[in-house]
Amino acid sequence: MADFISFYPGPSQTDPILPQALQEAATCGILSRNHRSSEFVALARETVELLHEKLSIPHNYSLFFVSSATECWEIIAQSFINEVSYHVYNGAFGEKWMQYRQKIAPNAFGCHYPYHRMLGLNKMEMADNAGVICLTQNETSNGTQVKNRMIRRVKTRFPKALLAVDATSSMGGAQLDWLSADIWFASVQKCFGLPAGMALMVCSPKAIEKAEKIGQNRHYNSLIHLAEQGRKFQTTHTPNVLGIFLLNRVMKNREGIEKISNHLIDRAAETAFQLQRKGKYQLLAHDRRLRSATVLAIKALPEEVEKAKAEAAEKGFLLGNGYGKWKETTFRIANFPAISDEAMERLTTFLIGRKKKT
Ligand SMILES: *Cc1c(COP(=O)(O)O)cnc(C)c1O
Repeated sequence: MADFISFYPGPSQTDPILPQALQEAATCGILSRNHRSSEFVALARETVELLHEKLSIPHNYSLFFVSSATECWEIIAQSFINEVSYHVYNGAFGEKWMQYRQKIAPNAFGCHYPYHRMLGLNKMEMADNAGVICLTQNETSNGTQVKNRMIRRVKTRFPKALLAVDATSSMGGAQLDWLSADIWFASVQKCFGLPAGMALMVCSPKAIEKAEKIGQNRHYNSLIHLAEQGRKFQTTHTPNVLGIFLLNRVMKNREGIEKISNHLIDRAAETAFQLQRKGKYQLLAHDRRLRSATVLAIKALPEEVEKAKAEAAEKGFLLGNGYGKWKETTFRIANFPAISDEAMERLTTFLIGRKKKT
């Protein structure tokens, strides 16, 4: 047994079913099967169906197994290379996505908004001629989120564009309004509680139709190829069969997303409340309406951040480092489904009980 609990926001604490699921994967023979075999196809199909059911994904949205969220940035960039892309961001991951796209295609524009403010449509005027609007739903670097309601408003205001949403640190933990966007993606080492090395991409019929119309097919992972293989519950390359198997077992064992999401929202609010009592800690996202329910970023002086992480480590709690421009002035706490209530309570009790550096 590991002698620590990981609150790192990815890779994070793995799902408690993992030891059993890994054992089963190793002995049931699936890992020795070819990825065109009927056994693999049955596993992929069942996993896709389970994800649709447990995450309430609309039936007409397709789901693809890919390798990472970073790969999804690349798939979107190259599959819609001639479209103008417009990136709305307030933190490090949204910015990285834009910079990544700019290296591949020059027609990428950014709209930065402050992390302590709500995203406003009035700031997005330039998106009028965008073919793809890129938005980070849960900004892992600063613990903020864009609410479903806002994503829906972006979609309504810019109906022609494809809306692509990075939900890497919320999918599997938050209830997403799938119909309000065309492309959603996440890697599995965050809310799914799995080892890294796989990601999910969820696409609306409109996204696939548009990719087909554009016809960009020069890459093994062009969206057209993903869709063509996905229809047969196959992949463009030999996939992470172990990852798919583990995802299957984790999803079988989990409750529906509404229940999980409500629970995490309550737990995040309670944790934030406890930590902020008597001014002990401060959340980076001061306004609670902006706060993520799955990643908490706690603001402190650099020495205090170092001290808190070191003391937590001694007690067996792995806290997440700050990220990007908040690297030294925050530490982060994952509030992911694989972390038990009991572990979260123990961490909170420890944090409020320790002496702060003054
Ligand atoms: C972790 C993360 C990524 C990168 O995920 P990879 O699996 O490493 O590619 C991208 N976007 C967000 C919001 C993330 O939290």
